[in-house]
Amino acid sequence: MPTLETIERRVVACRKCPELRAYCAEIGRVKKRAFLDQDYWSRPVPGWGDPRARVVLVGLAPGAHGSNRTGRVFTGDGSGEWLYRALHRAGFASQPNASHRDDGLVLRDTFITAAVRCAPPANKPTPEQRANCAPYLRDEFAALRNVRVVVTLGKIADDAVHALAKEIGTYCGPRGPFAHLAETVVDLPGRAGVTLLASYHPSRQNTNTGVLTESMLDAVFSRARSLLGPSPAKEV
Ligand code: SF4
Repeated sequence: MPTLETIERRVVACRKCPELRAYCAEIGRVKKRAFLDQDYWSRPVPGWGDPRARVVLVGLAPGAHGSNRTGRVFTGDGSGEWLYRALHRAGFASQPNASHRDDGLVLRDTFITAAVRCAPPANKPTPEQRANCAPYLRDEFAALRNVRVVVTLGKIADDAVHALAKEIGTYCGPRGPFAHLAETVVDLPGRAGVTLLASYHPSRQNTNTGVLTESMLDAVFSRARSLLGPSPAKEV
């Protein structure tokens, strides 16, 4: 079973989707006016956080000028500002802001990753691109042995996690439709009773329109916190 470090190296070196690699490189070459003085990461963005995390967050994909620029998931754009503020309020992050890879932020009991590791045009990865990237999520879940709660940020992430759960786990009840705060419990190899907890994605499209408010996001991490017991998940 690969370690998180091995998975990170494989992700960063991945070229399975040539069209996405070309798109990310072009974004980094042209840049956004506000970031003209910066070198863009422009490579696949690996997951990051606490290797002993009991809470795993799964997002959609890097933002073109967010983590495709900074190289760290949800770092450097509006979605990340919302997410890390909420994680800090809930005690899962050491600070509320995430601006670059060396900003001192530490995740507590939390690991953040994504369904797709390269920024896709219009934030819409194709089914083939999603399938190409799925093995990295599977490997991360195998390496994260203490996971108890998986927070899925948006429908695409939710679908990716449920596809993985169907492949490697057993459902303890039916999966309902995607909805904010929807829960499904699954047994994963070596970990019984893992809760898949859905959240609307903290995209500007959702936060600027009130589809997702700060209190709604706080409710997700409050629920995640309440689902964590004092000890790691029992072995099955
Ligand atoms: S999206 Fe995933 S599979 Fe495709 S090139 Fe990027 S890291 Fe590789």
